[in-house]
Amino acid sequence: MSNDTKIALILKTLRIVLGDQLSIELSALADLDTRHDVVLLMEVTEECTYVAHHKQKIALVLSAMRHFAAELRRCGTQVDYVELDAPDNTGSFSSEVLRAVARHAPDRLVVTEPGEWRVQEMVQTWAALSGRPVEVRADTRFFASRERFAAWAQGRRTWRMEHFYREMRREHTILMQGGQPAGGVWNFDAENRKPWPASSIPPARRRFVPDETTRLVMALIERRFGGHFGALEDFGWPVTRAEALMALDDFVQHELPNFGDYQDAMKVGAPFLYHSLLSPALNLGLLSPREVCRAAEAAWAAGAAPLNAVEGFVRQLLGWREYVRGVYWTLMPQYEQGNALQASRKLPAFYWNGETTMHCMREVIGGTARHAYSHHIQRLMVTGNFALLAGLEPRAIERWYLAVYADAYEWVEMPNTLGMAVFADGGQMASKPYAASGAYIDRMSDFCSACAYDVTQKSGPEACPFNYLYWAFLIRQKTRLARNPRLAMPYRTLARWPPERQAAILAEADAFLDSLE
Ligand SMILES: Cc1cc2nc3c(=O)[nH]c(=O)nc-3n(C[C@H](O)[C@H](O)[C@H](O)COP(=O)(O)OP(=O)(O)OC[C@H]3O[C@@H](n4cnc5c(N)ncnc54)[C@H](O)[C@@H]3O)c2cc1C
Ligand code: SF4
Repeated sequence: MSNDTKIALILKTLRIVLGDQLSIELSALADLDTRHDVVLLMEVTEECTYVAHHKQKIALVLSAMRHFAAELRRCGTQVDYVELDAPDNTGSFSSEVLRAVARHAPDRLVVTEPGEWRVQEMVQTWAALSGRPVEVRADTRFFASRERFAAWAQGRRTWRMEHFYREMRREHTILMQGGQPAGGVWNFDAENRKPWPASSIPPARRRFVPDETTRLVMALIERRFGGHFGALEDFGWPVTRAEALMALDDFVQHELPNFGDYQDAMKVGAPFLYHSLLSPALNLGLLSPREVCRAAEAAWAAGAAPLNAVEGFVRQLLGWREYVRGVYWTLMPQYEQGNALQASRKLPAFYWNGETTMHCMREVIGGTARHAYSHHIQRLMVTGNFALLAGLEPRAIERWYLAVYADAYEWVEMPNTLGMAVFADGGQMASKPYAASGAYIDRMSDFCSACAYDVTQKSGPEACPFNYLYWAFLIRQKTRLARNPRLAMPYRTLARWPPERQAAILAEADAFLDSLE
């Protein structure tokens, strides 16, 4: 090869890193040439406002992006960073990419596949818009590629997470011993449903004090998005990889051993309990799911955490997290239109302002406003359960979940909401709706003892609304759900109720729901 040809082969690449791709090992950075390439990071209004994200979520993403850019620069990378308030910022990814192409005249663009369908559609226009080839690389930070999941799902009538999870355990040899699951069983869920003991004090959790970069971003957000949901005061999320690693280490040492036992427990004034609080860092790319699973497995191998805790934790990451991503990419864009139960009620205002006499809802929504966080059972069995029983319009509740959590990105939030919480996909993910009366919340929390309603009463003005909403839901959905074998028991109970009793329950539920509008 002549020298001339060699020179001609040097390509200048514009490498685009999106806000939730803050990983040094990102595929788009794999063959980075620090002498010729430019890495582009963009803060754009469109991404802060396509839903009115919790202020802490925007603060987290922008602060983590700024720290990541500084880290890249320290390693000698040329970074083009577009700040939200830059005077010529056009406010959207596509127009900012075009401006960057004009600034740097690259030969090609490289980007890792985005996490949301909406952004993927934008990326698909960039080659035509910029006149440059665009290479879209697989996101190798996940255990399973989109294709791997699609191959697993192909030809299966139902997509049960448990089956997928077992394949992932085998494929990645996590918690395996001689080809068998460690401890001889795949699943310790039955051990992981203890309520919080009344005398126990919840663990104090490590939080991270906002540094100057985060404080600057917080001021910017109050200025630009002051009307968005939630408060910034209690911001304590890790915003750098170093902080995220500290959070992981802290969790593995102090909380992981009890994670399993109290995974489903809820307690007034204690939104975190033994949950890891790692999802915001994971979803941004500050931690990789592989290192998090391996850290948990190592704690078990060293005898520092019991198997029910470690398996329960690994199941969330290697199982649920990978599985919901697969569901999202395999079923979009039709997936977001799902409304199998024909639910159509408007989202009540208390989802935004927390003003409700139902203590459980007030507690979870209040915690969400304060921390941009609630743990899985609070999301699924309190706010999600209410949305299911009340027949809230799936798209409205889905947009709510996308707006209110620091860890919310469509690929993970949408299947959890539409598939798991409100059964809008008709059972693609869950074998039955996660519908529950007040008794479940009472068993798993201390919310009911300080509530205006009486959880033991099934009807009447003092009765817990979850009780009559639960039965009204089953009555209303009878034609769709009565044949589901997992709902045989409650439908047998209903069959014993005279029609007048069923009509009275329906009327009571409707009157309550109408009063919310
Ligand atoms: C209606 C609804 C909406 C949700 N929206 C989101 C969302 O926007 N973003 C998000 O990351 N998770 C979402 N989840 C899943 C889960 O509630 C959160 O991942 C979890 O609460 C995050 O807190 P943690 O890090 O303390 O989790 P832990 O309880 O400590 O779990 C460990 C990790 O496992 C993963 N994980 C656990 N459960 C799930 C799950 N069901 N799906 C995917 N990953 C899981 C998370 O990465 C989490 O960090 C949602 C669940 C429901 C029911
Ligand atoms: S009584 Fe009903 S509404 Fe009140 S906290 Fe318990 S479950 Fe929630």
